[in-house]
This record gives sequence, structure tokens and C-alpha cells, in this order.
Amino acid sequence: MLAMSRKSVSIGKLTIGAGAPIRVESMLVHPLADQDGCQAELQELEEVGCELIRVAFPRREEAPLLARLNQLSSVPLMADIHFDYRLALSAIASGCRAIRVNPGNLGGKNGLQEVIQAARAERVVIRIGANGGSLNNEQLGKASGDRSAALVVAVEEQLQQLLDKGFDNLILSAKSSSVQETVRANLELASRYDFPFHIGITEAGPGFRGLVKSAAGLALLLAQGVGDTLRVSLTGPTRQEVDAGFALLRSLDLRHRGADLISCPTCGRRRIDVENVVARVEKLLPQFPDGWTVAVMGCEVNGPREASHADIGVAGTPKGLLLFSKGKPLGEILSAELESALIKEIENTARESLSFRPNEGGYRS
Ligand code: SF4
Repeated sequence: MLAMSRKSVSIGKLTIGAGAPIRVESMLVHPLADQDGCQAELQELEEVGCELIRVAFPRREEAPLLARLNQLSSVPLMADIHFDYRLALSAIASGCRAIRVNPGNLGGKNGLQEVIQAARAERVVIRIGANGGSLNNEQLGKASGDRSAALVVAVEEQLQQLLDKGFDNLILSAKSSSVQETVRANLELASRYDFPFHIGITEAGPGFRGLVKSAAGLALLLAQGVGDTLRVSLTGPTRQEVDAGFALLRSLDLRHRGADLISCPTCGRRRIDVENVVARVEKLLPQFPDGWTVAVMGCEVNGPREASHADIGVAGTPKGLLLFSKGKPLGEILSAELESALIKEIENTARESLSFRPNEGGYRS
């Protein structure tokens, strides 16, 4: 199951669309003026695998700060711009190879033309798109009050302005805080256009509510082949957005970055405190090979069988834990030996993969 867009764009070395891996994005919460905060957040996002980072760029005098972040970041930055085409020109001059604009609100008589010229010269990708909160009465009127149709109208208005000027190095997006509106609008747009799509549920909310809402909307689109780059918008630390994005793609078997952790809900047969063991295994999770499934099961009676697809797992026993792989027991360990036993398995696997695949540079991503 791969994204459906037939066209691709390149933001520096990052390809989006036309069968490239579906990208996981986030947006800095720190303002540019807080350079220390921005740099710490950038570093954290890089560490968790974020592939494209949007940065609000509201003031031209902050262009040197944006340029500095561009120099520091190994992940491409997309400047988020409103109301002033000169900001877009500054962002491009500051090294951004992607900008997010609304061509209809850039101001200046020839503002859009200047932005397009600069974008063309520097091979800058422009993301355009509509947000459910910004629909105007005219767009709603054209759509007879149907908000998802109005999103399509709003995106097409922006798109037409760029296509009229011969610019098509584009990513499209249509977002709303309503799953239904977002899904309908994106499916309609994807049936009409081959451009790559950025997808997300905007203002999805905090914690588990935001996660469930985003996952519901994004999964509905991804399962139908729509979406080339995504953001799980959450009120909270940005690294959660990236972790959630990869977890979602793993759940849909669309990408296998990181290991998956499965655990049983427990029942009267459980022999261990599963929550506690899960918390201990979760701390080791970044060390497991990409694509692995790690299981924590409450009992040795059913656990290894129920998690027989797990690459490695532990199940509770009367004396401690049974270590198993692909449903087969490897041996019993004491609870205190959990971490050392799992690390040994990781090291064994790494050694085996090196001896069997000497030319491969690392794990799958
Ligand atoms: S693995 Fe054991 S404890 Fe967990 S749900 Fe299944 S039977 Fe119950």
C-alpha cells in the first residue's frame, strides 16, 4: 500500500510523493527568537526521525535566525508564511527549500510573481492548502454550505493562481478539525490532482483524544492511498507527533521505522505486573532493530502462542519470565535479568546480521 500521488517533489535530498516513503513531519513550537529552545527542539526532532520541520516565520528581521537554524539542521525546514510575500523571499534567501504560503494573501502587486521566480530559481517547493477555520463565506457559498466541498474550492483557488503562472513544484493540503470534512476533501482533491499531499487533522487536541482523532482521519486516508507526508498535530511535546506518526505508519504496515511493542491486556492468568514490565521494555525500545515486534505477555500458558509473530518476547512464569522468539521458548530468566537478556538478544541479532549481510549499512527504515 503506497501513496497514490503520481508526482513527486524534492526538498533538498528529501523526496515526497510518487511512491517515496510516507514522510513524518512536525512543527517547532518555539518562536525563532528563542534560538536555544529552537535548537534543542530541532535536535530532539532529528533524534526521533522527523523528516521535515515547519517553522513559523512571521518577522523579516528574524531572517538571520532562520538562516542559522537552516545551517544547523540536518532536517529540511519549511517556513510557514502569511500575509507578506517579502517573508517568503527572505525565507528562500535564508536557505529554506520549502515554504508554506497562501498565494491569495501574500499582498503586493507582483508579490506572488516574485515568490514564484525565487522558488523556481532555488528549486523551492511550495505547499499550499486550506484550513477549515479559514473558509470564507464566498467559498462556503460556492459549495452550498458543504464544508468539505468548500475546502476543495479553497485549495483550487490557491492552486489555480500558481498553475496560471506555470508553477507546479507543489504539495497540496486540506485540513480541518473534523475527520469527516478532512477525509472527504482530500479524497476529492486526490481524485482530481496528482500532486503530493500533506495530510493531517488540524487542532486535533491533547493526549489520547488528539491521537485517536488524528489516527482515525489519517488511517482512513492512508488506507485509500492518499497522503505522502503527514503531521499528527498534538497539543504537547513535538516529539510525540513524530513518534505517533511513525507508530501510525507501522500499524498500517506502511513504514517500519522503530520497533513495535505489543502487550496483552492481562487477565486472571497473569503471573507478572505487565504494566511494569512494559515500562521497562519500552525504555529499551529504541535499541531494537527497525521493524521488530517486541512482546510482553502476562503468562507463559498463552503468551508465546498469542504473540507468535513477535521477534522477541517475554511472558510471565511462576518464577520470573520466559524469553521467547517467534513463539519458541529461548529460556527462563529472573525478572531482574530482563534488561540484560534483551540487550544480549539485540547484540546477537546485530552480530548475525553483520555476518550474513556484510554489505548492508544498517537496519531497514
Ligand atoms: S497472555 Fe496470559 S495473561 Fe495475557 S491475556 Fe493472554 S491468557 Fe491472559
